[in-house]
Amino acid sequence: MHTVFHPAQLEHNPAREFLDGAWIDYLESSRRPRMILDAIAQAQLGPVIAPDDFGLAPIRAVHAGHYLDYLQSAYDRWIAAGRSRDGVYPDTFYKPGFLHRPGGIGGQAGLYTFDLSTPITASTWSAAYWSAQSALTAARLVRDGAPAAFALCRPPGHHAHADLCGGYCFLNNAAIAAEYLAQHPTPPDSPLPTSEIGSREWGVGSRRIAILDVDFHHGNGTQAIFYRRSDVLFVSLHADPDRQYPYFMGGSDERGEGEGEGFNWNYPLPAGIDDARYLATLDEACARIAGFAPRYLIVSLGVDTFGGDPLGDFALTGSAFPRIGACLAQLKLPTVFIMEGGYAIEQLGANVAGVLSGFARG
Ligand SMILES: [Zn+2]
Repeated sequence: MHTVFHPAQLEHNPAREFLDGAWIDYLESSRRPRMILDAIAQAQLGPVIAPDDFGLAPIRAVHAGHYLDYLQSAYDRWIAAGRSRDGVYPDTFYKPGFLHRPGGIGGQAGLYTFDLSTPITASTWSAAYWSAQSALTAARLVRDGAPAAFALCRPPGHHAHADLCGGYCFLNNAAIAAEYLAQHPTPPDSPLPTSEIGSREWGVGSRRIAILDVDFHHGNGTQAIFYRRSDVLFVSLHADPDRQYPYFMGGSDERGEGEGEGFNWNYPLPAGIDDARYLATLDEACARIAGFAPRYLIVSLGVDTFGGDPLGDFALTGSAFPRIGACLAQLKLPTVFIMEGGYAIEQLGANVAGVLSGFARG
C-alpha cells in the first residue's frame, strides 16, 4: 500500500492550544507524522511517495472561496494588525443572531474558527494545502486501480466545514477526496466494462462514495458538507457529544436533510467502551455501508480511540487496530485511508500501522 506525504506538512507548528481551561502544548504536533512514518517503514507496508499538485480546483469544490481567501491571508493580516506572532487565535466567536459581518482580521478569526485549538501560523496554509494534495493523490491511486492507499494527512481534516476551521482541521481532506472521486469515478480514457454500459446503475450508482469515520471525535465537518447529499454516505463511530468534543454535532438523530435524508448515520458511544463492543458497532456500521453499495470507501482514520489517548475516554487496546483493519477489508471496496487524530504519541505509529496491516492482510 502506498503512503502519500509531503514534508511541508511538518512545518505547521503552533506552540499551544486551550483545553479544559488551560493553555497546553499543541497536541497535534509534527512528531505525529514522524512516528507514523517510522511505524510504516518498520511494518514494511509499502513506499512513501510525495503528492502531486492538483491545484486549488478540487479544494474549491468543497470549500467556500471566501474561506480559502481567509485561510491564505489570515496570518499576514493578523501580523499587519500588530497581533501576536504565535498565530491567529480568535478572542470572540460568531453566534447565530449576531448581525454584523466584520471586515477586519480580529472579527473574521472568530467568524471562521470555532475553537482555540486551530491557530493559523505562517506555515499553516502550505501544510494544509499539501495535506489535501496527499488526500487527492491517494484518491487518484485508488481510482486508477490500487486496492487501497494511505494519505498521511496532517493537519487532519474531518472537523473542518466548508467555511469553518476547528479541531486542528483547516481543509477537510476526506471530503475533498470524496468529492474528487464523485467527480472522477474512472480514468477518462479507460473504457467502461461492457456489463456496466447498459446498467441503469451506471451514473448515480457508480459514483456513490461511503465515508466511514472511526476517529474518537465526531466528524462534524464531513457530516455538514454532505448532509444534503444522497450520493455520499457518511457513517461515524465516535464519543457521545453530550460528553465530548465537538459537542454540537454527532447525535444519533442526525440522519441527513432533504435528498440526503437517510444517508448520515452516527453511532455515539459511551466512555470506557472496550474492543469487543466497539468492533460489534463497527460491524453494524460496515453492514450499513455494504447495503449502500458504494464504488469507493473513504476511511477517516483516527486512532484516538486508543485507551491511552490524552484526548479520548475509550478503552481500546492495541490489538483492536489490526482487527478494525481486517473488518474494513471485508467490505472488499477500493479504499482511501485519510489520517485524522491520535495523540498517544508513543503508540500512535503502531496503532495506525496496525489498522493498515490488518486491512492489507484482509
Ligand atoms: Zn479525534
